Amino acid sequence: MSNWFSLNKDAVLKQLATTGKGLTNQEVRQRHSKYGRNILPDPPPVPLWKILFRQFADFLILILLLAAVVSVFMHEWRDAIAIIVIVVLNGCLGFFQELKAEHAMAELKKMMLMSSQVMRNGERTMLDVAELVPGDLVFLEAGERVPADIYLLSASDCLVIEAVLTGEAAPVRKKTGTLAENTPLAERVNMLYCGTVLCNGTVTGVVVDTGGHTEFGKIAELTGSTPEEPSPLQLQTSQLAKKLGLLGGGLCALIVLLGSLQGFPIKNMFMFGISLAVAAIPEGLPAVLTITLALGMKKMLTKRCLVRRLTATETLGATSVICTDKTGTLTKNEMTVTQLVVPEPFFFNQDIVRVQGTGYTPQGAILLQGENASTHKDVRQLLEASILCTHAGIEQKLGQWLAIGDPTEAALVVAGKKANLTVKNLVGDTQTVGEISFDSDRKRMSMAWQRTNGIHLYVKGAPEMVLDSCTKVNLQGKPMPFTPDQRQAIIEQNKKMAAEGIRVLAVANRALPNTGLPTDTWEQELTFLGLVGIIDPPRNEAAAAVKAAHSAGIQIAVATGDNALTAGAIGKAIGLKFDKVITGTDLDNTSEDELQQILQGKDTLFARVTPAHKMRLAKACQTMGKICAMTGDGVNDAPALRQANVGIAMGQKGSDVAKGAADIILLDDSFSSLVAGIQEGRRQFSNIKKFIWYMLCSNFGEVIILTAGLFLGWKVLVLLPVQVLWLNMVTDGATALALGFENPEPGIMNKKPRDPKAPLLSGKAILLLGGIGLYKAVFILWVFYQHWHVLGNRSESGLLIAQTMALTGMVVFSKINVFNFRALENPLNKIGFFSNRFLIIAVIMTFLVQIAAVYTPFLQNYLSTTAIPVHYWFQLAGMALPLLIIGEVYKTIISRRTPG
Ligand code: ATP
Repeated sequence: MSNWFSLNKDAVLKQLATTGKGLTNQEVRQRHSKYGRNILPDPPPVPLWKILFRQFADFLILILLLAAVVSVFMHEWRDAIAIIVIVVLNGCLGFFQELKAEHAMAELKKMMLMSSQVMRNGERTMLDVAELVPGDLVFLEAGERVPADIYLLSASDCLVIEAVLTGEAAPVRKKTGTLAENTPLAERVNMLYCGTVLCNGTVTGVVVDTGGHTEFGKIAELTGSTPEEPSPLQLQTSQLAKKLGLLGGGLCALIVLLGSLQGFPIKNMFMFGISLAVAAIPEGLPAVLTITLALGMKKMLTKRCLVRRLTATETLGATSVICTDKTGTLTKNEMTVTQLVVPEPFFFNQDIVRVQGTGYTPQGAILLQGENASTHKDVRQLLEASILCTHAGIEQKLGQWLAIGDPTEAALVVAGKKANLTVKNLVGDTQTVGEISFDSDRKRMSMAWQRTNGIHLYVKGAPEMVLDSCTKVNLQGKPMPFTPDQRQAIIEQNKKMAAEGIRVLAVANRALPNTGLPTDTWEQELTFLGLVGIIDPPRNEAAAAVKAAHSAGIQIAVATGDNALTAGAIGKAIGLKFDKVITGTDLDNTSEDELQQILQGKDTLFARVTPAHKMRLAKACQTMGKICAMTGDGVNDAPALRQANVGIAMGQKGSDVAKGAADIILLDDSFSSLVAGIQEGRRQFSNIKKFIWYMLCSNFGEVIILTAGLFLGWKVLVLLPVQVLWLNMVTDGATALALGFENPEPGIMNKKPRDPKAPLLSGKAILLLGGIGLYKAVFILWVFYQHWHVLGNRSESGLLIAQTMALTGMVVFSKINVFNFRALENPLNKIGFFSNRFLIIAVIMTFLVQIAAVYTPFLQNYLSTTAIPVHYWFQLAGMALPLLIIGEVYKTIISRRTPG
């Protein structure tokens, strides 16, 4: 059925056979088997032929294919076949690796499941949205993504962004009611549609359609997945590869020309040109990079970071400033009400009420001067107002009490329960008559209820945002004028509690004459009922993570909506190095230059900020050339998350809007996971650098050998084109990929963040690659010369052995040389010779494959190789081993003196 919007509330509930108590487990089971799970159909997978085709659509591969075609014309059949076989093999390798990467991505997507508040068996509970069935009653708050198609039963101040369905970016106001049969989708204001986003207000509704039957499900089947944009690093490397390809191409054209002018046979020169081009082109680089990044996303999961964009990890690794919020990231977000400041005992005896118990377990005494105060009239009024201004609840799962919804509100519900006060026993099953929702700009919220003696508004929020609207104070159950002294005493008490790191809410109420009053006049002339002090201790691991960030040269800027003193106390407790706390109001009076001055060097603490301030901070950091990782959770945080270099949303307390805007989702909300993610980002970047250097080093050696051979006037090729291809395949593929698995180097978090603009190949690196390349070239040329000229007497058979020796030598040198690139700054013994088992396996495999190339007749035929005595291998290894010394000398002398 698709015209739910044209029915009235009772008809919808009747059709769906549901009541205000929600469905029972039995009904849910039946509906699950009838309608299936509430999941969207998978978008059509990318056809396999497309993935396969992609492997060959590369510019560099096309050059090789061209070479094969020319070889055919020149009747060099063997070369042509070999080139094609190797290109196909390489392509297949890329194909399977890409399939693996796609699979890893699909698994990640599955992790992005969400949960919703649902009524089941008469109780509110949190459920995975996949469990929803038609007939379920759901409760949604601002920031949540609508999990199914929903008919509205009640809505307060509800605005929804329906761009995914209608393309309209402006929020649409939704309200209950019945609409005409022919109302178009965009005007169905009594419905919420799956995939749209609730950006303001709260709603209760009944699920009418799920999964593929929803409006979004129907179109999701049509649209496929959108391809991922390449990361800057991918672009940078593919450009590098292209440049090298062009350079190689140009170089070989020049050499072919020169050679021909010198009288070399044109055919030889042509074959030489192909060899050179093949040698210069790092064919495998783009594929290895993509695969490493995709597998890296999986690795990030082990650090509790869900990466949504391939670009994010490498940028995270370069982070120089973390803009983080406090609540839930630096603190546990396990709120417990511990103090109540109730006006009467406070003004007269300076006594505050203590609430005992921990966490969300609804047990604990409420004491005033050691005596039970749960029956104290004013205490009850304060708690009553607090819980009548909440949407949250608590539930017991596996013996543990957990918060459903906002932890601050759940803490109030728990405090209420300790005095036997619940929303249900206060207002039964009635619904609110109105609400002004919480948002981090207003920092307060209000809910209006129809009570037996009229409509009452309950307000709670940051004291700074509530006290100004209070004209009266509740003393022994009666609203009395709020004197300036009393107000001042409350402000002082708020400061005192905040300085102890306590989160303070002010609570107030008023009678509303009727709900026809415009909502912007509701929160006036309030009666102050008291302060509620909530503790939210720092996370155990926060101090260590702050220390780790500091030694990694990362600056921390806390931007919290909480009070300056509370923020300051928490900041000190976790070891932040800041001078003073800057408030949102201070920020408003600060110029851009002054802000940049503030953000220079030290940690900073910004309190009572709004999302707009966060946006300003991100921009200021970027203008200063810093790489800014910004965390956020609220609906309004989305623009700042997009602005920052890396936007990070909280997996647990974050709104779906923030998650949708973020590059990374922190699964456990913890700051320490963020720092671990940065370490992982640094590791991945440094490993990428390692395999790029390694690949270029191998290619450089090949180019020198080939060119030198020509200029020495030997008139024969040191390596045949097919041999160079073979060499690239065995040196670049698996071995390079294995370098991507290196563990983080010791001290990786004791260095300053890298300069994101620094080129991949520094001057020092070129020196290293050049040095190693030259060393290799000299020895291989010498070996070739020995076997061809001295021992082989320039004979055909001598050439065969010499080329086999050169090829095998290159493999042996490369495999020994790869150990130089395992760590760019640390000596090999510090990282452990066998610590990367993938590399060891890759090296062993390469040797086995090379043995096959030298000793099996089939490969001998295709690669133009011949069997060589075993001791030749050891001679080659003996020549290659000193390479490791070159690497170690480089690390001690050059690299460690000027790291980076
Ligand atoms: P952070 O920005 O570090 O996550 P925060 O949770 O304190 O910290 P906000 O959610 O913007 O930031 O809250 C700002 C202030 O609003 C809080 O300090 C508190 O005083 C008040 N507040 C928070 N939650 C509620 C709520 N559910 N109802 C009313 N007021 C609230």
